[in-house]
Amino acid sequence: MAFNQVTIIGFGLIGSSIARVLRRDHPVARLVCGDISQEVCDKALALGIADEASTDLTAAVQGSDLVVLAVPVGACGPVAQIIAPGLKKGAVITDVGSVKQAVIAAVMPHLPDYVDFVPAHPIAGTEHSGPEAGFAELFQGRWAIITPLPETPLNAIEKVTKLWEAAGSNIEFMEPRRHDLVLAITSHLPHLIAYTIVGTASDLEDHLKADVIKFSASGFRDFTRIAASDPVMWRDIFINNQDAVLEIVQRFTEDLTGMQRAIRWGDGQALQDMFARTRAIRRQVIDAKQADYRYPNQSPALVPQPEALRKASGS
Ligand code: NAP
Repeated sequence: MAFNQVTIIGFGLIGSSIARVLRRDHPVARLVCGDISQEVCDKALALGIADEASTDLTAAVQGSDLVVLAVPVGACGPVAQIIAPGLKKGAVITDVGSVKQAVIAAVMPHLPDYVDFVPAHPIAGTEHSGPEAGFAELFQGRWAIITPLPETPLNAIEKVTKLWEAAGSNIEFMEPRRHDLVLAITSHLPHLIAYTIVGTASDLEDHLKADVIKFSASGFRDFTRIAASDPVMWRDIFINNQDAVLEIVQRFTEDLTGMQRAIRWGDGQALQDMFARTRAIRRQVIDAKQADYRYPNQSPALVPQPEALRKASGS
């Protein structure tokens, strides 16, 4: 990687995980943490994953060859405006935001024409936040989607590609619009459903709620894990991917009504056909090696591997 100095703005789960990758694979690079929180800056230094840390974001980017925006999607535009005067000529700016079109629209107007912006999104994460939650293996075997702009020079795209390859990610290039639609169904809708189900449970009367928690292992538990994801991050994702999410929610609502109708009319065949179709999708996800999950600080031996998952799910 051709970076002497890298600034990561937003030293949370994703930002600090990238810092750990750089520390591991590119120890000569000077790492600078920029974060609005002094506590996060102190933590980054204490953990030894930054050489320098500052809440002054303009100062934090000075002299850096690579600047990674790892803040919530809604903060990318305001952060770009703040850092613009400090950016070095020829610097590459990238981001990790879960939405691409809105981030590009918010960031681009602020950047000087002597830097290059390469939008990207690692498809990896956990429900945990903050600098202590990060770990270098987070991106291993996961996709990193890069959504270059038509005017982005090839050498800037290559630099960001190398960063994600070093993190162990598989690279996919995509149009920003397609990214937002695909992620609306694979990530944003499942989170919306999880937040809604857990919200419905939290509105139940106390005696019912207690039993929901007690017997949560029957399915509810997995929704609570997803619904424990960072509230600010997810607020920003839904607000900034409004069109794609509303399109997918509309389709989902129609399909849900179809299921409701099949249950009401006792149409077992319709239900069974649907469940057989969805089971086949699960098999494809396992075959694509996207079915394992990890938690921070978990040793690789404890991470369920596809084979174990196949046995556990009986498929
Ligand atoms: P996180 O753990 O909450 O970290 C975000 C960090 O950015 C926090 O330290 C936060 O400080 C800081 N921050 C917030 N606003 C800022 C601002 N205006 N200027 C400077 N720093 C600011 O979040 P994360 O999970 O790493 O997510 C970061 C980005 O990665 C988001 O865009 C998200 O869409 C994307 N992403 C997340 C995941 C995931 O599963 N978590 C996966 C892929 C991509 P405070 O804590 O003080 O607010």
